[in-house]
Amino acid sequence: MVDPEGRSVVMVVEDEESYQDALNIGLTVEGFVVIAASTISQARELMGNHKPDLVLLDVMLPDGSGIDYCREIYDTSKTPVIMVSARTSEVDIVLGLEIGAADYVTKPYRLRELVARMRAVLRRPTSGADEEVVNFGDLRIDFVRRIVTRRGQEIELSRKEFDLLALFAGRLGQVVTREVCLDTLWWGLELSDTRTIDTHVKRLRQKIEEDASSPQHLKTIRGVGFRLDA
Ligand code: CA
Repeated sequence: MVDPEGRSVVMVVEDEESYQDALNIGLTVEGFVVIAASTISQARELMGNHKPDLVLLDVMLPDGSGIDYCREIYDTSKTPVIMVSARTSEVDIVLGLEIGAADYVTKPYRLRELVARMRAVLRRPTSGADEEVVNFGDLRIDFVRRIVTRRGQEIELSRKEFDLLALFAGRLGQVVTREVCLDTLWWGLELSDTRTIDTHVKRLRQKIEEDASSPQHLKTIRGVGFRLDA
């Protein structure tokens, strides 16, 4: 749902009042419309009535686990979820991402960092994209199930590789600059560190191209970025 002024609606599910208050104020200042829930049952109600563009979901809630509720959201909608947690164990992060969370933030976080991640998630072609499936050549990308297949055979991609491919596929035939890649998927990295992107593109190419040394789809535009051709 986009409000009349075009602002994104974010549902904040958080039982700690200090965080809830800070997010209400901070995110409103940043131009979001905030709807707040402090329990999963409240969140369920708001989810049905407001259709938010993004959910910020705390893991430890009074009436259940945010991880379970995240699964429930993904079963019934395409709304991206960013998990927020005081826990920092790798296990939680991996679990959060495995169930499909768009991103994972640990408390305490800086508002600026959170907002950058929220904007990145909202910019991803997977969120709010009209097309659920894109076909090109013998490749098929299912954005909802996050599955890529070639002639019916599933290609195993890491989360970053899929996000990168989704970014390119959302701009099929257009050049995507390294700046845009960094801004969307590696928001914390310096522009000088583009080797990370190149490494991921190389790996992605090895997986999706018939012959990675002469790519038919994922082309490098020297000095600028990349272009995915149908
Ligand atoms: Ca909590």
